Amino acid sequence: MTDQSSAIETWLQENAERRLESLKAFLRIPSISALPEHAADCRAAAAWVAADLRSSGIEHVEVSETGGHPVVYGDWLHADGAPTVLIYCHYDVQPVDPLDMWESAPFDPIIRDGRILARGAADDKGQLHLHLRAIEALMATRGRLPVNLRIVFEGEEEFGSQNLDAWLVANRDRLRADVAVISDTAFFQGNVPAITISLRGLMYCQVDVTGPTVDVHSGGFGGVVENPANALARIITGLKGPDGKVLVPGFYDDVVPLTEADRAALAALPLDEEAYRLEIGVPALVGEAGYTVLERRGARPTLDVNGIWGGFQGEGSKTIIPAHAHAKVSCRLVAKQDPHRIFALVRDHVLALAPVGVRVEVQNLHGGRPSLTPIDHPATRAAARALEATFGRAPVYLREGGSIPVTASFESILGLSTVLLGFSNPDDNAHAPNESLVLANHETGIRTVIRMFDELASTGLG
Ligand SMILES: [Zn+2]
Repeated sequence: MTDQSSAIETWLQENAERRLESLKAFLRIPSISALPEHAADCRAAAAWVAADLRSSGIEHVEVSETGGHPVVYGDWLHADGAPTVLIYCHYDVQPVDPLDMWESAPFDPIIRDGRILARGAADDKGQLHLHLRAIEALMATRGRLPVNLRIVFEGEEEFGSQNLDAWLVANRDRLRADVAVISDTAFFQGNVPAITISLRGLMYCQVDVTGPTVDVHSGGFGGVVENPANALARIITGLKGPDGKVLVPGFYDDVVPLTEADRAALAALPLDEEAYRLEIGVPALVGEAGYTVLERRGARPTLDVNGIWGGFQGEGSKTIIPAHAHAKVSCRLVAKQDPHRIFALVRDHVLALAPVGVRVEVQNLHGGRPSLTPIDHPATRAAARALEATFGRAPVYLREGGSIPVTASFESILGLSTVLLGFSNPDDNAHAPNESLVLANHETGIRTVIRMFDELASTGLG
């Protein structure tokens, strides 16, 4: 250990008790963003965070209005020649219901079995708090930070981040950075240190097939009019082959292929496929030929029907040819597929599959971009070295099947790659009753963040 790092370690040990009290105080603020009666609590949490940053010596600290719950911004930009890192976490939390399932009051944190239990302990106030304490420890012991820092702590993440993109656009100039670090993800099962390197995007559309003006008698008209439900079924079967390949021309054109290193990193994850299958309750796992379960779930795009309806839905029988039939169809996307382009490709293919005798329309309902920060990105490597040095083992690399929209916004609005360095544990009950955070992850996480800043200072980013 260098003198510098032993000075920080001593300081951290001397301040351990105060640090835990500060975590508890933060968790006591019921900053539930979705419920209007907690709007004042969200403001209180933002003010609490802002005061904490100011007392550590962060500059330009501001509770910045968004039209909803504010963003807490602050910066420290005196590390000449070092990269600028944008840190993102969120101070808002999920609602607590069902309250009777909690074993302790959600906003009265308690310690049990090495964990702190409270709403927000893992998602995401505990993780935000460890960044506050890492900054405080660096400023208290060195009087400076190893990197330039811009801090963005959001208050609407659990409520759809409705105002964040507009705020990012409005503040683009003061958010210039070299890389973003988001701490709002989890380790791998068994509390194995992990870095999430990719998230999937989304294209969500609706297919509407219409035939006769009204439902018509299947005896009188069957055989002479096209049936919208039959036509829809034919369209859907033309979208994906039995080998799991999406049949939309051009669909895979922009997919970044998996490298040998990517495949090895996924293969290194200990997934018990049989236990996974039983947990889901399906007779067999399926998917795209040529790829493993973890590759299919995180690194390959998909196409699925999310809902399908039309015609007679009641009990018994009704002999009609339905006037219309509909399906919601979505694709999970991977880097570098573009949701608008994928929509256009899917729409064109659906229209090409449409039989004569019906009208077919495809509406684009919703989309989000995928993101990928590769294993060999300098910032991913810096985070990996920091995790290994502090948690005592090299991290695994995860590819999440779902999305964290802010990651895509950082990329599209600010042009930033993101390192997803989260410290919660898959069994932390995020969004559920009895949410908790392993206290050792909070404590070691503080050391990881400090170490990562030191590592980033020497990456040559920036
Ligand atoms: Zn979160």
